[in-house]
Amino acid sequence: MHTKFFDKEKMIFNKVSKAAAELNVPAFLIGGFVRDKIIGRPTKDADIVCLGDGIALAEAVANKFHPKPYVSFFKNFGTAQIKVDGFEIEFVGARKESYNYESRNPVVVPGTLEDDQDRRDFTINALAISLNENDFGNLIDPFNGLHDIKHKIIQTPLAPLQTFSDDPLRMMRAIRFASQLNFSIEEKTFAAIVDNAERIKIISQERITDELNKIMLSPKPSVGLDLLSKSGLMQIIFPQMMALHGAEYVDGLGHKDNFYHTLQVVDNICENTNDLWLRWAALLHDIGKPQTKRFEEGHGFTFHGHEVVGARMVPKIFSKLKLPMNEKMKFVQKLVLLHLRPISVTQENITDSAIRRLLFDAGEDIDALMILCEADITSKNKQKVKRYLQNFEMVRQRMKEVEEKDHLRNWQPPITGEMIMATFGLEPSRNVGIIKDAIREAILDGIIPNSYEAAHLFMLQKAAELNLQPV
Ligand code: ATP
Repeated sequence: MHTKFFDKEKMIFNKVSKAAAELNVPAFLIGGFVRDKIIGRPTKDADIVCLGDGIALAEAVANKFHPKPYVSFFKNFGTAQIKVDGFEIEFVGARKESYNYESRNPVVVPGTLEDDQDRRDFTINALAISLNENDFGNLIDPFNGLHDIKHKIIQTPLAPLQTFSDDPLRMMRAIRFASQLNFSIEEKTFAAIVDNAERIKIISQERITDELNKIMLSPKPSVGLDLLSKSGLMQIIFPQMMALHGAEYVDGLGHKDNFYHTLQVVDNICENTNDLWLRWAALLHDIGKPQTKRFEEGHGFTFHGHEVVGARMVPKIFSKLKLPMNEKMKFVQKLVLLHLRPISVTQENITDSAIRRLLFDAGEDIDALMILCEADITSKNKQKVKRYLQNFEMVRQRMKEVEEKDHLRNWQPPITGEMIMATFGLEPSRNVGIIKDAIREAILDGIIPNSYEAAHLFMLQKAAELNLQPV
């Protein structure tokens, strides 16, 4: 097969070709760029492997551009990188690898193009395109990667058991590519992942989580999440998710399988957001269910308080997975805690005060919360889905009305603790908190309007009940 490059690519790769000829080091495009080019996925990163010194080739290529781009290089790894026209091009000498059992870091020696293709993780990632003058653009495909791309198959070029044992991160990568590209993992390759699952323990948490996040950012994360579960990897890296598995029936009363429900919610939310953390909130929204599951005679299964238990689990899970312990975690935690609130609002008659409380508690995350709640509707009953969606539409409408009247988004009560202390000559103390809370509650409950004057008057009344006088 002969490759068709875009004009800009052709201009860059022609220069690589010339520099490679001058240095007499054959050069090839390899890996993800070639794969994505064939699939038709846009890509701005290209890896070039050469039979010689990658850093010297990068220098020579850089010299062909005006102005000359900066060449950044890592001498220890023999890699160099230049950025031209929005492209990131990485150069490295072809290598041969050998592994020992304790580490995923191989011993590396210079090798041929074939050696370099042998060490690649999957056939679809082992394709090369010649950049040499005699056969420029020719595809070099020793493992039938082209066939596998066409048939959407992920398999290893060499024996899969060895490939995954050498570098267990490849197991996560296989599942990540399956999820990103919607490919299937070939049977023997998948069986080798199952057999090697325990070996994932030698991989650093950061790398595992990096792949997990790529799965979460893929178009349908359920593909990857289900494969993680079926391969045994999920049990090791994220056991709390596995605990969601299983539907149970007692006396004809049952509950749905919370694992597959969660996967559906994640896929649903991906249709409405690319935000990684909102997707994580979907993944974790029911994580507290296994711990709170009870069977109530004559009534069925309940999961009372699962949102509270789930919210408590969020920091532990983030910490274990080395996800950021900052406002992103707080956001996920808040959404897990509040995910039932819009539903419970629709189950009561929708009072202004319930809407005000929801707006106050969700603050600036109210839109994200509503997206999560809508994604949480996974009923197969079309009538039910329609009714739930209409209910949420009503909540949105009521929120708009209350919001226009009361401006509660990012709201702070009009009387602060400082004002209370100054009015009654108080040090920070319990009474300050009592008055402050009472004002906030009175406004949220609609007992007094959301204005300074009303709040001030209410503060004086409340203080009088506590025998406090203004100074
Ligand atoms: P993406 O850019 O979406 O992560 P990619 O395939 O370009 O996809 P990189 O991690 O940049 O991924 O890797 C570039 C190439 O290096 C791959 O296509 C593959 O040929 C090879 N590679 C990367 N990681 C491994 C690994 N763990 N084992 C074997 N080969 C690997």
